[in-house]
Amino acid sequence: MSVTASTPAVRTFCITRSAKMVSRPRVVMAVGSNTISGASILTKLQKDCATPLPVLRHVADAMADDMRAGLAVEGGSELQMILSYVDALPTGNEKGLFYALDLGGTNFRVLRVQLGGKEERVISTEFEQVSIPPELMFGTSEELFDFIASVLAKFALKEGGKFHLQQGRTREIGFTFSFPVKQTSIDSGILIKWTKGFAVSGTAGKDVVACLNGAMKRQKLDMRVSALVNDTVGTLAGARYWDNDVMVAVILGTGTNACYVERVDAIPKFQDPSSTSGRTIVNTEWGAFSNGLPLTEFDREMDAESINPREQIFEKTISGMYLGEIVRRVLLRMAEAAHLFGHSVPEKLLMPFSLRTPDICAMQQDTSKDLEEVGSILYDVAGVNSSTNARKIVIDVCDTIAKRGGRLAGAGIVGILQKMEYDSKGLIFGKRTVVAMDGGLYEHYPQYRRYLQEAVTELLGPEISRNIVIEHSKDGSGIGAALLAATNSKYEHDF
Ligand code: ADP
Ligand code: MG
Repeated sequence: MSVTASTPAVRTFCITRSAKMVSRPRVVMAVGSNTISGASILTKLQKDCATPLPVLRHVADAMADDMRAGLAVEGGSELQMILSYVDALPTGNEKGLFYALDLGGTNFRVLRVQLGGKEERVISTEFEQVSIPPELMFGTSEELFDFIASVLAKFALKEGGKFHLQQGRTREIGFTFSFPVKQTSIDSGILIKWTKGFAVSGTAGKDVVACLNGAMKRQKLDMRVSALVNDTVGTLAGARYWDNDVMVAVILGTGTNACYVERVDAIPKFQDPSSTSGRTIVNTEWGAFSNGLPLTEFDREMDAESINPREQIFEKTISGMYLGEIVRRVLLRMAEAAHLFGHSVPEKLLMPFSLRTPDICAMQQDTSKDLEEVGSILYDVAGVNSSTNARKIVIDVCDTIAKRGGRLAGAGIVGILQKMEYDSKGLIFGKRTVVAMDGGLYEHYPQYRRYLQEAVTELLGPEISRNIVIEHSKDGSGIGAALLAATNSKYEHDF
């Protein structure tokens, strides 16, 4: 049985902007400004973060090896290679009314969709987003699930004429639950622990589907959960509905994860292969990968001060939660050792996570001669007045960290594709294969996206990479969960 950490551990990493300050002197006097320049710190950073082809190749090969080791035996690798129990993917023929519920943080989403089969596809869809009242994050399991079920019940009441449930059926739900779960079947999983600020009593050790089913019963809501999935798996299913060539899904948001379609006979640790299709989705939990990554002193310090030191190293190098923080650490060093922003170190710059990935992304979009936008972000975030020269150095630092992240993410994707190709001989590289991407980092950071694509092309060469389509599948995970409720419906399929 596998242990599902459906959410990257990063999301439990909860230092807020206003939280702990590092104890450093505010004014640096010991280091002469002539001895170290911002430019020399930048040069060393660029060298340490470099991802030439041999480094990318090593990362891709090591990713493929780690995947194999994780499939061989439980605990055989840093990658958990978790079985999702999803072995039937949407085909486009699904018909009927299905619901989805997405709980993964302080907001949750409910969604309904009317599916009309190959011809009509998605006839109608509606969703609502609700924030969880903070007191429920510290209450009892019943209180939380009762609240969720009551929102779902209200939402179900507003169904209206566009949606039709076939007679004699109960409404079915796909439940996307992004907390660490030990999945036991497609529609059951035991909560290991709450993360992300939730401290709800009485859920750990219980089947979260049973908790939800119980609450729905108390609400007299006649619905049942047909599929319990994580967000990566939901994204793959959602994208696959539109495109039969989708084989891999990658989330690059606050954290990162990837899943892919695996052959059951390539999973030695899977003792009881009940899959009828011979294929199943494997959730890699690739954020835990670490082999051969080009890391700097800034990464090591950030990791050491994190709540999960030595864990999730790939995630800490490539995902949205960390890129801004790495840049902040570099800029702090430049401020202290090279007086990049004058003779005192800006106080705000001392605060962990004060510079966020959307900030570094926004700075990189500034193409003006004087880099005014960079100046104003630095002023707002770090409280400094900067020279044009300092701003140019800041942009180069942002670019260095985004470039390393994007290229390593690309190498990870090639690692997954290589593993699949090796086992299937030509079925991946010899035909069109789609990688469905989602997450705020991938969606909003154009330079990161470009670096990722470039690395994939460099690694695969022009010919093979023409067959590999890396595609944004926006918010596919919600509809993906509803589709998985359809493919795993308890009723006889009329599709
Ligand atoms: P989550 O991963 O928390 O489920 P998202 O997929 O929406 O949520 O991703 C949010 C993350 O995406 C943010 O934490 C941030 O790191 C990153 N992000 C959001 N907006 C931008 C942006 N404009 N530029 C770069 N990164 C962004
Ligand atoms: Mg998400």
